[in-house]
Amino acid sequence: MLEIILFLRNNLVRMKRIEEKNFRGKTVIVRVDFNVPLNEKLEVTDDTRIRAAMPTIKTLIKQGAKCVLLSHLGRPKGQDPDLSLSHIVSKCSDILGQKIHFSSQTTGKQAVDRVSSLKSGEVILMENLRFHREETKGDKVFAKALAELGDAYVNDAFGTAHRAHASTAIIADYFPNDKYFGLLMRKEVEAISQLMDKGEKPVLAIIGGAKVSSKLSILESLLDKIDDLIIGGGMVYTFIHAQGGKIGDSICEPDLKETALSLLEKAAAKNVRVHLPTDVKIADAFDVNASTNYCSVDQIPDNWMALDCGPNSLAHFDTIVMQAKTILWNGPLGVFELEPFSKGTIGLGESVAKSTKEGAFSLVGGGDSVAAVKQFGLENQMSYVSTGGGAMLESLEGKQLPGIAALI
Ligand code: AMP
Repeated sequence: MLEIILFLRNNLVRMKRIEEKNFRGKTVIVRVDFNVPLNEKLEVTDDTRIRAAMPTIKTLIKQGAKCVLLSHLGRPKGQDPDLSLSHIVSKCSDILGQKIHFSSQTTGKQAVDRVSSLKSGEVILMENLRFHREETKGDKVFAKALAELGDAYVNDAFGTAHRAHASTAIIADYFPNDKYFGLLMRKEVEAISQLMDKGEKPVLAIIGGAKVSSKLSILESLLDKIDDLIIGGGMVYTFIHAQGGKIGDSICEPDLKETALSLLEKAAAKNVRVHLPTDVKIADAFDVNASTNYCSVDQIPDNWMALDCGPNSLAHFDTIVMQAKTILWNGPLGVFELEPFSKGTIGLGESVAKSTKEGAFSLVGGGDSVAAVKQFGLENQMSYVSTGGGAMLESLEGKQLPGIAALI
């Protein structure tokens, strides 16, 4: 944990700012994360990631740089026309308010020639990096070929910063004096630092989601930094089962009973107050039309499963959230995708929004909680909503991200 704090602090000090540099006449390679969802008509259904990269692109073109955008899209196995970045060029151009050119070749003479034909302030998007197996393998030759596209390298793809791929980490070796953090990347690192390094007390972590197994490292790693821990979602029932409660058919990882108990012991030893739900909403099937009821968290009848927390738990969580000055939220409190079981996640989101309005710093990070705050229209009421699911999780777990390490 100390390592990650020092790492973040050092990063912030050592980050070279693109705003302070003049890139006039330079060709700047920008690794962005345009891995956006497409519908069956190959239209972009959520453009958050594209918008998030705009401040960096606009800063560079305002300085008169030529911008070469590199990204991946999906997980193609070789060339896959459905996953061509050509499908998103017009969307990106609309958002930027300027035409973005497209190169069907990612590297090689044709790609270099396309880039050379750009004028100052123009932008080009290269074809999906992952059409080349070498990208995810972190291949040096491929990274060198990518590096030949420009004079400087900016990484603004926080979403892939936890991967040591050719375009996210290895390429940086070819720009020892000309590698920079993009503005989004910087904001993400600052938000983590605000939480882990400078968080005003009491610091609260709300960790929900389906399974204890996927959140163990983050839970362990956070115990040194927090004063309160709210545990929610499907994870709860492994803890309740371990404590001898009746959990019916609720999701549970019995193998992790001992781990769950030892985590509670560690929390107590570190004076972290752990808050589990006391009442839950139960259903007789994992279905939107299931019969439902409320009961105590440790008295769930056979053949029933708990899919959300209940009103008493929510009222208690609200008190804890309102007392907190620094809040991390990762993972929903229930099966928020199904309306009857969304109240816990919505209620908690509203509490975090209220607390943020009263001055707390709130960071929402990691896949499903981000989806939930967006779905319930609470996104703009949080201090920071991370764009990088896996990358945010790994940095909160105390891991060094290759994409960040490569820039230093
Ligand atoms: P994660 O990706 O680990 O953050 O888990 C998110 C998923 O956990 C969401 O799809 C939720 O529907 C699911 N989830 C939350 N609460 C429960 C629960 N009580 N039972 C089963 N799944 C749950």
